[in-house]
Amino acid sequence: MKKAAFLDRDGVINIDHAYVGRWEDFEFVPGAVDAMRKLHQAGYALVVVTNQSGIARGKYSEADFHRLTEQMRDYLQTQQVELAAVEFCPHLPDGQVAEFRIDCGCRKPAPGMILRAALELELDLAASVMFGDKSSDIEAAQAAGVGRAFLLAKDGRGEPAELPVSLVAERSSSLATAAAVLLG
Ligand SMILES: [Mg+2]
Ligand SMILES: [Zn+2]
Repeated sequence: MKKAAFLDRDGVINIDHAYVGRWEDFEFVPGAVDAMRKLHQAGYALVVVTNQSGIARGKYSEADFHRLTEQMRDYLQTQQVELAAVEFCPHLPDGQVAEFRIDCGCRKPAPGMILRAALELELDLAASVMFGDKSSDIEAAQAAGVGRAFLLAKDGRGEPAELPVSLVAERSSSLATAAAVLLG
């Protein structure tokens, strides 16, 4: 069983410009690529878990998302960063696109994407860690039984958001600083 680093995408890996659907708008958060490389080298399977309601909202298509994901993966490979999986949720209960207008089990704070990756990759969730910038990331991780969670400041700038008392996470400014804490 492998341990995983679950990574939210927007606001953690890349700057959250809201509904990023094109590579031209994909801007890495400073230090994020280096942090992902260190996590990978430390034996964590890197699993991106990302809500992509922009698909249900009609901001960009599922094909656009896959194209962007390929471009992200290709770039990361040149940086010696291997992603084990990219799990995404295209749904939204009140979205514009009928096909994706459902109340699903994968949109965070639901744990569906994490549980799906755990089955596919045979992950040890208790030994795994979540990095997110929203309480919904932490809630999904906690619901799935992920052992540790870091709440980061959006885009690696400023302070992390407030969390409801029912959720537990370590607070850190960015993926880079959180990975440094995790890896000692
Ligand atoms: Mg986010
Ligand atoms: Zn979904």
